[in-house]
Amino acid sequence: MSKSLQAIRGMNDILPEQTPLWRYFEGTVARLLDNYGYKQIRMPIVEFTELFKRSIGEVTDIVEKEMYTFEDRNGDSLTLRPEGTAACVRAVLEHGITGGGQVQKLWYIGPMFRHERPQKGRYRQFHQIGLEVFNLDGPDIDAELIIMTWRLWGELGIRDAVKLELNSLGTSESRGRYREALVEYLSAHHDKLDEDSQRRLKTNPLRVLDTKNADTQAVLVDAPKMADYLDDESRAHFEGLKARLDAVGIPYVLNPKLVRGLDYYSKTVFEWVTDKLGAQGTVCAGGRYDGLVEQMGGKPTPGVGFAMGIERLVLMLETLEQIPEEISRQVDVYLCAFGEEAELAGLALAERIRDELPNLRLQVNAGAGSFKSQFKKADKSGALYALILGDDEMAQQVVGFKPLRGQGEQQSIAWDALAAHLATCVVQG
Ligand code: ATP
Ligand code: MG
Repeated sequence: MSKSLQAIRGMNDILPEQTPLWRYFEGTVARLLDNYGYKQIRMPIVEFTELFKRSIGEVTDIVEKEMYTFEDRNGDSLTLRPEGTAACVRAVLEHGITGGGQVQKLWYIGPMFRHERPQKGRYRQFHQIGLEVFNLDGPDIDAELIIMTWRLWGELGIRDAVKLELNSLGTSESRGRYREALVEYLSAHHDKLDEDSQRRLKTNPLRVLDTKNADTQAVLVDAPKMADYLDDESRAHFEGLKARLDAVGIPYVLNPKLVRGLDYYSKTVFEWVTDKLGAQGTVCAGGRYDGLVEQMGGKPTPGVGFAMGIERLVLMLETLEQIPEEISRQVDVYLCAFGEEAELAGLALAERIRDELPNLRLQVNAGAGSFKSQFKKADKSGALYALILGDDEMAQQVVGFKPLRGQGEQQSIAWDALAAHLATCVVQG
């Protein structure tokens, strides 16, 4: 194929053989979020570039080097959203739905865009399910977010393969004091830091903490710890969160180097990580961002949220072979009809059955064909049963009901009794 007709590097098609697993995952999360009382919000994929600069922070990896930014025909600078929180905050402010302390528990799903180096678990178009809660400032809601994800891992069968890492970044005041101490310490060891960290020391010193460079990591061993700089309020908040996780029995590890890539976090930050995916081990990450709404022009409004990477979680389900059997079968019943008259009767019959069994996955053969070719297609469809309409069946107003997966002999069923019979033998999803 000519180069111009290929997808863009790092932007993937999700093929029909993969979509059942995606839909299973997305459906499981959506149901869970419904059950906990969260409501879906849908934001545009493109926003003014300024929105991301103001919310994510100018000196973050995302804004410095990962955004897909372009000028539109009006000369406005627009950006394909690299994450969902900024647009969600913009939307709630624009529509006034967090005003007067109104609590909002929102979630969203969709593609995000970052110009990163594509590799397993890291793409340029990827998909997130994210969640944001506004106007609740206590540790109880931070705990609920984590408890919900813990339940999700349980439902998906991957709980044993993920680990919760926790940290508290304090309020902006205590973080400011910590930042000063960290800068002082790191400046004294400036020569031992890698180049990137030397640069970050000036622009965004906390980010030095999550360096991958071994020499810099060695320097960090004796660096001041955020935990020693936490204000009383943040300390109490963090204790409150841990007490709730303990109450529910959710294990966690404290990771003082967990600072997250975005500027807007305060107090709680957390990541769910796995060692099953190689280098891209974070499957869900989030935290509290009590200053963000104000920073974006709203009234002070506490917020907390997280986002999970769908590609990474789907990869985990595949890697751990946690794929429920029923999702791979997409057809319950396949109707074969032979001859024009049977085809017409078959169409009408199929619609009657669909009226009575709306959840039945019934596929009607298209493109006619011989006995042999229609049976082959019926078998290939994965259906449990074939329905057969030929001259004999037409004459007697019955269908041949043929099990395709070795559950007994073919039998004849009267048209009027067919829906009731199907209801007894097909478990409908
Ligand atoms: P990472 O450290 O892996 O780059 P991040 O801190 O940039 O992640 P967030 O912005 O917090 O990630 O996004 C939340 C989640 O979205 C991540 O934990 C991950 O599961 C997923 N994610 C982020 N970037 C990508 C990407 N380029 N490709 C696939 N999934 C991604
Ligand atoms: Mg990243």
